[in-house]
Amino acid sequence: MADSHSVQGTLSLVYRLQTMDVEVLRLTLEIQEASGLIGTARSEVDSLERQIAASRKELEDLETRRVQIDLELRETERLLVEGKKRQKELKHPRDIQAYLSEMEFRRDEKDRFEEEILHILENQDLLRKKITGFEEMLDREKSSFDLLSSEKGDQIRDRHRRIEEMSQERNDVERAFPEDLLKTYNRLRGSHRNGMVVARLLEGACEACRMSLPPRTVTEVKKRQKIVTCLFCQRWLYLPDRGTEGEAVFQGTRTQDTRQT
Ligand SMILES: [Zn+2]
Repeated sequence: MADSHSVQGTLSLVYRLQTMDVEVLRLTLEIQEASGLIGTARSEVDSLERQIAASRKELEDLETRRVQIDLELRETERLLVEGKKRQKELKHPRDIQAYLSEMEFRRDEKDRFEEEILHILENQDLLRKKITGFEEMLDREKSSFDLLSSEKGDQIRDRHRRIEEMSQERNDVERAFPEDLLKTYNRLRGSHRNGMVVARLLEGACEACRMSLPPRTVTEVKKRQKIVTCLFCQRWLYLPDRGTEGEAVFQGTRTQDTRQT
């Protein structure tokens, strides 16, 4: 127990806590990234579904318009047939002239309606092809979304589980902490970039800012009699116990227990 209150014991505790905190942060970022990817894939699917719905609506509107013009076309055709019957009864040149103008107008109308129907049919054809293309894309997007969300969903659940485990482990470590030290650690954690309070001394340099430290500082750290801070980034310098140096890796692996026994 005495050792856990020594400088080395304190630093190794802080380092252990920090390693867990950094790992939790990393896992949290992974969860955010995975959720972001799922969200992006989801919005691709949504966007395609919206485009398909809009194209179908457009197709329907065109069909309504086509039916309407078709009715008008039939009416014009009927008027043309009736007009022909009326032609024989006309005697007066003025009536004949009026009749000819009317027939010309009707024929123009008929041409115009026929052209418009053709134009609508072409557009409907294009729209159907467009919808088929969208539907094929949607199928692909949906299956990649399903794959991604099951894969990333597993990943997210795994990360949550690891965070949960780590927070329990962290509680155990916290209990071993002198309260003042925990306060100091939490305060410093907020003021340092990446939440790093403790930096290992690796080959005479600070792990966090990578600056080489003067031999006098290195000697002081090696004495392990008081907390020595990095001259450049003010982090606490920590020299892990022999045999564990380099093993307590920051990212990806679990914390090594570097407490002296
Ligand atoms: Zn430094």
